[in-house]
Amino acid sequence: MNAPSPDTLRRGWCPSTLKPMETGDGWLVRLHPPGARLTPAQLQRIAALAARHGNGLIEISARGNMQLRGVTAGSHPALVATLLAERLVDEHDGDGPQRLTLVSPLAQLGCHSGASRSEEPGIHEHDEASGRAGPLGASCIQDSVHGFRAQACGLPRNDGLGDRIDALALAAEIEARAREVSGLPAKFAVVVDGGGESSLEAFAGDLRIVATAPGRVVMALADRLWFGPLAESEAGAVVAQVLARFAAKRAQTPDAIRRMGDLAADELAALTDLPATEAPAARPASRRAGLFALGESHAALVGLPFGRAAAATLDRLAQASEMLGCPEIRLSPWRGLAFRGLSEANAIALLDGAAADGLITCDDDPRLSVQACAGAPACSRAEAPAMADAARLAQVLAPDLAAGLSLHVSGCVKSCARPGASDLTLVGESGRYRIVIGGGARDSAVATLDLSALLTRLQPGQDLHARLRAAGRLSGPTK
Ligand code: SF4
Repeated sequence: MNAPSPDTLRRGWCPSTLKPMETGDGWLVRLHPPGARLTPAQLQRIAALAARHGNGLIEISARGNMQLRGVTAGSHPALVATLLAERLVDEHDGDGPQRLTLVSPLAQLGCHSGASRSEEPGIHEHDEASGRAGPLGASCIQDSVHGFRAQACGLPRNDGLGDRIDALALAAEIEARAREVSGLPAKFAVVVDGGGESSLEAFAGDLRIVATAPGRVVMALADRLWFGPLAESEAGAVVAQVLARFAAKRAQTPDAIRRMGDLAADELAALTDLPATEAPAARPASRRAGLFALGESHAALVGLPFGRAAAATLDRLAQASEMLGCPEIRLSPWRGLAFRGLSEANAIALLDGAAADGLITCDDDPRLSVQACAGAPACSRAEAPAMADAARLAQVLAPDLAAGLSLHVSGCVKSCARPGASDLTLVGESGRYRIVIGGGARDSAVATLDLSALLTRLQPGQDLHARLRAAGRLSGPTK
């Protein structure tokens, strides 16, 4: 296995297994498991590899991708060889995205007309021991959960998530067709939304498919223009046509066209032969953690605080899920893992154990409203310890975060964790934070403060709290 070239390792590259990205704590290696799903045994295996070949930290990105941190030039070849040999990743050689579709981890298999299209997982089992810690819940994390060792909360549930198409099967078809299209940007995103209660409206997409009726979908381009309706069975071919036309358009001026949103309205409309249509009605936001009833079985959706966990934590979680009979784990864009196919009692047991281990099991956990990058010391570009400070900020702002305030803590202006605007954005700068209200990392700051002053002035009755309220970024009674 050859080491990646220095050019491959440049920052800003969309990383993959074969093309890691250099960061402050070593190489970041992104994994794309086949079909975006894992068995508990596979998750244990990945945890063991993260500990052996990296620094033992595992992340799940806001695109539902898994990534290992702290890999080195010396450890990368053996890591890649093992991942490929054990079919833990599905890497292709093309120039486009390794995976471009985003599907809810709670999407129902075989919904409506696509019942026969869902593939069996083809999951590769193995039985190698993985350096296990004790059973989940037997020893709680002491150092990284920052006071959030809550119990699994009131366990609300959804009975019947109401998907109107087989979003998983459609996403698999789109992935297969997209591999035939060269010239797509590496970060191109296709959102496939089954139209049920697990809405993906919160995630931006270059192209979006939303089911509006059983077996019927509409399509959005750049989240601006809507087209359709069309049959679920035709959607894969229509998306492939759009991708091919976009790639051809982009080939004319690749530097000017990086994403679908760079095209004007008439250029977007020229990508499809479908008629324009109205945007579908907005749906309530999805729950991002907790217990879900999926037909006859249940799922436990567990979030990783700020998208990151120790390999040992995930190993304990995987072991527990295996003991509880979980057949399938899906990666969640809410930066966690969905353990599917469980009985209700076993899903609750898994959530209880995860909560005791410091993981997120309640939709109102304030950490779910915080986006934070690794920051210092993990990232060499960081000008502040973003992730560590995010935990303290989440505690101070817990009531406001639970009420809907969005907080982004970025170690520097590059804004890796969240490209867009938040109610409150904090940008690391020489050990302090630039404070942006209602904007992104490059917008004008209202002040620049160190963490201590920031924590004080964000308290009710202090000036920054008042400014957030005046900007309409806080709800609830004035204090
Ligand atoms: S935003 Fe965070 S992770 Fe990205 S380069 Fe800056 S400090 Fe590093």
